[in-house]
Amino acid sequence: MSHTPAYDALVAHHRRVHDLEHLQAIATWDRMTHMPPAGAAARAAAQAALAVLIKQLQTEPALTRQFETAAHELLPGDAALNLARMRQAHRIEAAIPAALAERRELASGAAMQAWGLARQNNDWDAFAQAWTPLVGVARESAARLGDALGLRPMDALLERWEPGLRMARVSPLFAKVQGWLPPLVQQALAAQSRAVPPIEPIGPFPAQAQQRLCEQVMAMLGFDFNAGRLDTTQHPFTGGVPEDVRLATRFDETNFLPALVGTIHETGHARYQQNLPRDWLGQPLAGPHSAALHEGQALIFERQLAPQSAFCQALAPLLSKAFGEQPGFEPDNLARLLRRIRPGRIRVAADELTYPLHVIVRVEIEQALIEGEIAVNDVPAWWNERVRRFLGVDPQAPFSQGPLQDPHWVHGMFGYFPAYLLGAMVAAQCFAALRRDVPELDAQLAVGNCKSIGDWLAPRIWQQGARHDLDAMLLHATGEPLSDNALREQLEQRHGRFH
Ligand SMILES: [Zn+2]
Repeated sequence: MSHTPAYDALVAHHRRVHDLEHLQAIATWDRMTHMPPAGAAARAAAQAALAVLIKQLQTEPALTRQFETAAHELLPGDAALNLARMRQAHRIEAAIPAALAERRELASGAAMQAWGLARQNNDWDAFAQAWTPLVGVARESAARLGDALGLRPMDALLERWEPGLRMARVSPLFAKVQGWLPPLVQQALAAQSRAVPPIEPIGPFPAQAQQRLCEQVMAMLGFDFNAGRLDTTQHPFTGGVPEDVRLATRFDETNFLPALVGTIHETGHARYQQNLPRDWLGQPLAGPHSAALHEGQALIFERQLAPQSAFCQALAPLLSKAFGEQPGFEPDNLARLLRRIRPGRIRVAADELTYPLHVIVRVEIEQALIEGEIAVNDVPAWWNERVRRFLGVDPQAPFSQGPLQDPHWVHGMFGYFPAYLLGAMVAAQCFAALRRDVPELDAQLAVGNCKSIGDWLAPRIWQQGARHDLDAMLLHATGEPLSDNALREQLEQRHGRFH
């Protein structure tokens, strides 16, 4: 007979929730990739019903008693940590009543539908009308979570993505980036205007050939096709579950780079998912624990690995095979294309130098929106002002290239955007440490052998699951807590000091 019946019951309970969330994830993937438009309303209702069921399980009154009993059971170290993660998750879930969770599902379903139409018709007002209820739900959730956890509203939303991290730590880090980055962008643009531009690859690049190429690159990066697949969508994402990872990208037949780079990014997410500690899958200890760490894994592949000249040597023959040989595919030219600076309006198409500024635009706006400093209809003006000031770009453009370009806020995912810039810091910090530990890395990459990346990340990050918060995880993996130092050093090296 078990000596830890309450803990065992909690483990079984989490497994059951995990199984239902599995179905929810696959339904979301289907909605984003394959579902015909007429299915939208019924799907939204079905997913809302499933969400209610999950919510009921997560907030069962019996859980409180089980947590109290389990606290007195003698648990080995890992189980005790798993129990602590369960308790915090329960605190967060219990703070959001089932009715509010249901409202959130329905409101985000409606907002998603309006988003698609509003992008087509360039109609902010129609979107705002459908989005306002969701923003209301987000504010109410932030207030309730804040009360339950003793946090300010934005910190409470951040806690869901970055356990232990507060805006008081994030904002100064971002302010530092805002100090050193814009002059570096100007310097890099001036240097770039003096240099001969890289050769543009010549299309068309058929979607089918792009899909095959992406799958080859995913395989080179270690993606397990027995436990995942690649499909097409309007906005690239990684979904599914660790046992069955669903990647989705989109193909532009005039330019293969966005899909290729996007797929490399999503493969980073996917490898992390596929390598979370198997023994703990379905339990909070399996992780993932931090969105910044997740984005960091994606950015290690996209921003650290992909623009390396050595990696481009391995990429070049695959491109020639897919689209025919041409001078644009020469490795050094590819590396230059991947590092080219082009300030623009679109975050996912942004270069590595201007990308952090896109993130800061969004973080400032979502914080003001959640804290009630601005209303839904203030978003476009705030957006335009910041895009002009931070990025030096003319913001006048269709809304689909402005505040309607990202799906995060349309899903009600507030508090996630910091993860993209924190993730860039994580990626630079990890890759610098990896380079120190693997001096022969370039020689390996040049022949398409990317194994060292996974061999370094798996024990230090992937297999650690939710063992540590972000700072502690980085301290263990790289010897330093989170900072902007490695990112700054690397961007200056690539675009500043030595050019
Ligand atoms: Zn990502």
